[in-house]
Amino acid sequence: RRVSGPEERRLLELLSCGLVVLGLTSGLLLRFIPMPYGRYSSRRFGWPLPARLAWALQELPSLLVPVGLAACGGATSAAWPNRLLLGCFVLHYAHRSLIFPLLIRAGKPTPFFTFVLALLFCAYNGYLQGRSLTNYAKYPSGWLKDPLFITGFIGWLVGMAINIHSDHILRNLRKPGETGYKIPRGGMFEYVSGANFFGEILEWFGFALACCTFESLAFALCTLFILSSRAKQHHEWYLEKFEDYPKCRKIVIPFLY
Ligand code: NDP
Repeated sequence: RRVSGPEERRLLELLSCGLVVLGLTSGLLLRFIPMPYGRYSSRRFGWPLPARLAWALQELPSLLVPVGLAACGGATSAAWPNRLLLGCFVLHYAHRSLIFPLLIRAGKPTPFFTFVLALLFCAYNGYLQGRSLTNYAKYPSGWLKDPLFITGFIGWLVGMAINIHSDHILRNLRKPGETGYKIPRGGMFEYVSGANFFGEILEWFGFALACCTFESLAFALCTLFILSSRAKQHHEWYLEKFEDYPKCRKIVIPFLY
């Protein structure tokens, strides 16, 4: 039996609550156990997969599921605000699953357990955001000119630019063949240790403002909880490893945290 209408609406609300709870619990757990990939990668969490392959496959559902839902059509999928907002989400994941993996330089392998969790998260959230925008989110005429939409859209765009620029800085810290770590400098790294995470958090809060849906807000909060924990681990790791690490740098939110 296919779930639709009010039942599916209820399901999306439950999944959104689930996303917030998942973000909160993971964020708290990650205060004690570092997220097992990248510099904290460990064989205890399963067979290691090459970083490029893991990133490409695990992020793909957040690209394919919304595209598939849009192709099937839905009550709101033809409206321009919905098309544009779904386009923002899909563009991010097209970059993350098709371009970002090709650019990685000597990234540490991803344990199988972490890979599976990321894959499930991307399928879950791809369905949540995709279905919300293709079938339920309704906007008044003129929404694309509304200050809420414009502010959110600019936040999304600036956040994505900061995220991509910061990942570019990190990548270029290594010469071909190098696998070690250096102090990142320039761009938003002058203000925070987790500049790429700050960009990603800004991006999804901007998206949530432009969407004005419960589903997009849940995703932004989940991103905040998870990435602020990872940024805190990186910050403490840098302070421990590098004596000359800039002491005025915050963790992830410039001037605040
Ligand atoms: P990291 O900052 O941990 O690492 C990014 C890349 O840069 C890795 O290849 C890493 O290598 C390398 N790197 C990091 N720091 C240094 C350094 N000091 N010197 C040299 N190389 C360095 O980011 P993540 O891998 O956690 O995340 C990658 C992207 O995915 C980010 O843009 C992030 O925002 C996004 N993301 C989004 C999530 C969400 O919930 N929406 C969740 C997780 C990530 P190595 O692998 O060897 O450590």
